[in-house]
Amino acid sequence: MKITAIRTHLLEHRLEVPFESASMRFDRRAHVLVEVECADGTLGWGECLGPARPNAAVVQAYAPWLIGQNPLETERLWATLYNALRDQGQRGLTVTALSGLDMALWDIKGKHLGQPVSVLLGGRWRAEVRAYATGSFKRDGVDRVADNAAEMAQRRAEGFHACKVKIGFGLAEDLAVIREVRAAIGPEMRLMIDANHGYTVTEAVRLGRAAADYDIDWFEEPVPPEQLAAYQAVRAGQPIPVAGGETWHSRWGHGAALTAGAVDILQPDLAGCGGFSEAMKIATLASMQGVRVVPHVWGTGVHIAAALQFMAAMVPDPVRAAPVEPILEFDCTHNPFRQAVLTQPLLPVAGMVAIPSGPGLGVEVNRAALAEYAMGAA
Ligand SMILES: [Mg+2]
Repeated sequence: MKITAIRTHLLEHRLEVPFESASMRFDRRAHVLVEVECADGTLGWGECLGPARPNAAVVQAYAPWLIGQNPLETERLWATLYNALRDQGQRGLTVTALSGLDMALWDIKGKHLGQPVSVLLGGRWRAEVRAYATGSFKRDGVDRVADNAAEMAQRRAEGFHACKVKIGFGLAEDLAVIREVRAAIGPEMRLMIDANHGYTVTEAVRLGRAAADYDIDWFEEPVPPEQLAAYQAVRAGQPIPVAGGETWHSRWGHGAALTAGAVDILQPDLAGCGGFSEAMKIATLASMQGVRVVPHVWGTGVHIAAALQFMAAMVPDPVRAAPVEPILEFDCTHNPFRQAVLTQPLLPVAGMVAIPSGPGLGVEVNRAALAEYAMGAA
């Protein structure tokens, strides 16, 4: 086995209705897929979290260290690539780009061995997972409180057992959103809140104390990700479990947050934290402290497929008859190529998503969609 080519596919769709989180505005959806080709024709697919063009540039910068190498040697290649840019790149795009490549190498390994990645990671504890709905961004031109409540009532009708709403826009309006969403979804459906690091400690503590009345499962990214002491203060100052991790990279980034006692729930992203190779190490670090892991997902079907393979292999902690199961973050915002990039979509049925059992990621990429949504094609 030898790697012969590294390709990137930039995808884009302009949104008719732009939307915002507390930290970012979206007027388009843009993602990048990574394709690794081997001499025997085997293809592996991956995806990078974050800005598409910069990620693609870093992926191509890594290519000289991969061409001619054995794709099955995932750990050696991970360390080689990381070391190549380590002095200027211990986190950020160097790691998100590496994530997409590592994902593709594991896809190749699975296809070569005829096994799903989840089996290669140690075994399939589950064949399906419950999905939770992510949505309720602030959309242009509508009343956010009513819009978010209506959206999450719809998610409940679709069969989702849980949903996550975006906050971080201001305490009074955020609390109105939480109150109205809880009223719209009823008392049983699980509810989480995500501030996308839009608050100060003082604001996050005030919000958390007030929002606790609405039975919130976790409070995600309350404060900026670099501020681990601020995370500790939010944990100590209000009663809702704190979650974070989508912008922490590698075992060192996640390890520092765990050592600091920053979170109750850790959210590594397969397309951002360093791929399968690194996510397994991060899960081990979390298990040493009894911190629950719920992977972050924001991308196309390739990213969802990778998250599903990882989640299949997550060891219950503790192992018991009815363990706490991982749940899949399912982005419900508008993105026409999210599922179109796959020949068979990965969609919830009655709130559950089946984990593919075919070799590698267990999915096939639809090249017609790559052409249709190619950046600059429209
Ligand atoms: Mg988030």
